[in-house]
Amino acid sequence: MSMHLEKKAELNRAQLKGTRIAVLGAARSGIAVSKLLVSAGASVLLSEVKPASQLTVDLTSLQKAGIAVETGKHSEAVLESALICISPGLPLDIPILKQAQQKGIPIVGEIEIASWFCKSPIFAITGSNGKTTTTTLAGQIFKKNEPSTVVAGNIGNPFSEFMLNKEQPAYVILEISSFQLETICSFHPRIAVLMNLTANHLDRYPDFDSYAGAKLNILMNMSADDLLIYNGDDSYLCKHLKNSKPRKLVFSQRPHSLEGAFWEHDTIVIQTEKKQQTIQLKKYQLQGPHNHYNMMVAALLAHLQHIPDKIIALEIAAFSGIEHRLELVRELNRISFFNDSKATTVDSLSYALQSFPGNIILIAGGKDKGGDFSEVNQLLKERVKVTILIGQASERMSEAWTKVIPVLRARTLPEAVKIAYHHAYPGDIVLLSPACSSFDMFRDYEDRGEQFKKIVAGLN
Ligand code: ADP
Repeated sequence: MSMHLEKKAELNRAQLKGTRIAVLGAARSGIAVSKLLVSAGASVLLSEVKPASQLTVDLTSLQKAGIAVETGKHSEAVLESALICISPGLPLDIPILKQAQQKGIPIVGEIEIASWFCKSPIFAITGSNGKTTTTTLAGQIFKKNEPSTVVAGNIGNPFSEFMLNKEQPAYVILEISSFQLETICSFHPRIAVLMNLTANHLDRYPDFDSYAGAKLNILMNMSADDLLIYNGDDSYLCKHLKNSKPRKLVFSQRPHSLEGAFWEHDTIVIQTEKKQQTIQLKKYQLQGPHNHYNMMVAALLAHLQHIPDKIIALEIAAFSGIEHRLELVRELNRISFFNDSKATTVDSLSYALQSFPGNIILIAGGKDKGGDFSEVNQLLKERVKVTILIGQASERMSEAWTKVIPVLRARTLPEAVKIAYHHAYPGDIVLLSPACSSFDMFRDYEDRGEQFKKIVAGLN
C-alpha cells in the first residue's frame, strides 16, 4: 500500500507558476499548503470529500484568496492536475489516487511542498514513540535561545503555515509521522532523528518492514554532510542504519564510546569529536526511562547548535511534559491517578510500567492495533497488582495476561475507573495506559484522556 515516490528532482518551487495542482483534504494543512502554492503562482484546486456543511472553514475566503474549492467529492478535475498534494491521514489507495498513479501524476504530501519554500535548516524528528515530547522540548530550548525557531509538522501546526511568512526562521524543528514520510520526494532535513522503531500501525501496514521502510524514507535525500541521530539501544535501527550516508550520532541509556549522547546518573553526557561534555540535570519533571531518551535528544540537538548547556538544563527543568502522556491527574487518599492515554502501543505501555517501581493498578485496552501484548508480561508480573480491561482488544489482552496477573473486565471507562479505585490502597498508582488506539469507544486519544480525567475528578 505504501507508495514510494521516485526521486523527482524536477519537482520544485520554481515550476509552480501557472501549474495546476490539486490539494486533497481541506483541513488545516491542506488550506495552508493551498495558500502557499497560490503565493507561488500555482493554480490550485482544493478538493474535499466532506460536504461544505461539515466544514468549519469559510469557503468564500478561500475562493477570494484565489483557491478553487470543490466539496462532497474528489472529481475528475483532480486528474487534470500536474501534481497532487495529499493531506496526512488520507489513504493512498483511494480510487482517485489509484487513477492518478495510473496516469503518472506525482503525489506528494504537504511537508514535501512546504520544504520547497524553506531555506532554514530543518531538523526532522520521527520514530514510533516520543516524537511529540522530544519535538516540544527541543522547541522550547531552541526558542529560548532563538525565538524565531519554528516547531511544526505532525505536532499540529502545519509546516506550510509558517512558510507563508516572509521571514525565514533560524531553525525548523519538525515532528514527522510515517504517513508523512510516505509522500516525500526531495525533502531533505539537515538533521534527522530516529527515536525508535517498534510495532505500531500494524493495522495500516502489511508488516513491520513496510512500516519501518516508510520511516527510513527520511534518509532518502540525506548525504554525508548531514547528521543522523538515532537510538543506539534499538537493535532494528542499529542494524539498518549502520551503512547509511549521513554522519551518525547515537543516544543510549548506557555509556558508549560513539559520537552522540548517553544518560548516566541524571547527567546527559555528550560526546562529539573526541570531546566529552556533561549536562547535569539537578531537576527534571519528566518521569520514566523513555523520557531520558527524549531529554537526551532535545539536549543533543540544542548542543549541536551551540545553545549553552545552562539554557538546556534550565528548560529541561521547567518542562512539565505534555497532556495525556504519563500526566499526573490527581492524588486522592494517597492514591495517584495517571493519564497516559497517548500510550497506544505495547511499547509505550512497557515504558509507563517501567516508570513506577510497583503497586500499579492498570486500566488498558481499546482498539486492537495488532501488537504482541505478552511482551510486557514480565513487567506486569513485577509491578501490576490487577488490570482492568476495556474495549475491543480485551479478549486478546486477557488471553495474554491472565497467566501472570489478575485480569478484570469493564464495559465502560467509568466502570473501569470505579473498579480500579475500589482495588486501590494508599500508595497505589491507578494508571490508564491503554496499549491500544481509542477509536472503538472514543473520538481519539485526547477524548479518552479527557474523559478519564473527568471521571477521576469526580471520585470521592
Ligand atoms: P509520539 O508523538 O511519537 O506519539 P509522544 O511524545 O506523544 O510520542 O508519547 C506518546 C507515548 O509514548 C507516551 O505516552 C509514552 O508512553 C511513550 N513514549 C514517550 N517517549 C517515548 C520514548 N522515547 N520511547 C518509547 N516510548 C515513549
